[in-house]
Amino acid sequence: VLASFIAASAMRVGRLPEPGQSLEASAYTFEAGGKGLNLAVAARRLGAAVDGLIAVGSDPLAALAEPALRRAGLPPGMLRRFEAQTGAGIGFTQDDGENCLAVFLGANRLLDAASIRGAAEGLAAADLVLAQFEVGDAAIAEAFRLARAAGRPTLLNPSPFRPIEAGILRDTAILVVNASEARLLAAALDRSGADEAALAAALRARGPDLVVITRGAGGATAYPAGSAPRHQAAFPVAAVDTLGAGDAFAAGLAVSLSEGRGLAEAMRWGAACGALVAMRLGVFDALPDRAAVEAFLAAAAPLAP
Ligand code: ADP
Repeated sequence: VLASFIAASAMRVGRLPEPGQSLEASAYTFEAGGKGLNLAVAARRLGAAVDGLIAVGSDPLAALAEPALRRAGLPPGMLRRFEAQTGAGIGFTQDDGENCLAVFLGANRLLDAASIRGAAEGLAAADLVLAQFEVGDAAIAEAFRLARAAGRPTLLNPSPFRPIEAGILRDTAILVVNASEARLLAAALDRSGADEAALAAALRARGPDLVVITRGAGGATAYPAGSAPRHQAAFPVAAVDTLGAGDAFAAGLAVSLSEGRGLAEAMRWGAACGALVAMRLGVFDALPDRAAVEAFLAAAAPLAP
């Protein structure tokens, strides 16, 4: 995993703030986070052996990273320190679970191709290489290039802020995007009016074999090359805070696929992980372990034929 590290604050508010408004929050969490760390922690809790790189700066926030890795059972050797600010983010969640988020990427953007080349051996041996936009494009491009050259699959969670570089997309096997990222990609490909299946086909033509589009409580649809789309409904749960649901979904999908489960079952694992994260405020402690996902799925309706 190319794992971003973000010192993440989450505030619970009645309604999201409007410009000029000050609010009193009713709950607050401060924890180690970031899409990449979430992916790594989630995959580890689901039972995968996880290794990779994680970048922090040289400020007091960097001190959060090592205990977090230790607590999640991730190798401390993943840490890289840069002369920079550590990534930080603040999220607001309103009573119905809607949220907004500002992220400062800081040291995460300093992971570069040279840092990746030091980890080439691990990349060539991985069952699946995961990356997301919070890490610099040069690092993702190099990691995916090395992984694909070694015949390994790659999974990308792209940015809601910027288009995907063509080279990265070409080396992506599995692309997982949420609805807002899908809109950005559609605009970048001049397909803003197109339906989702046409967008997925256009994306597959540029690299990935599998495109998955998630829609929060609206579920997720997988568009594989060469077979019909597969929709997975979201599990009906009382959502408290959906931040991190997409990361948990991607980890559940990735671990299931790398264990050789079929696409339908992998989508179901992803949806269970997303739902379990949505039921709690914060992300790190909410990311479920394997036993929690199995218990949740056993209690839910069986897989439709
Ligand atoms: P992101 O966090 O990247 O925006 P989504 O919000 O689309 O991702 O969530 C990813 C997946 O997590 C969804 O497809 C769904 O399976 C699950 N999920 C998200 N929000 C909810 C919710 N309110 N209730 C149940 N499942 C949810």
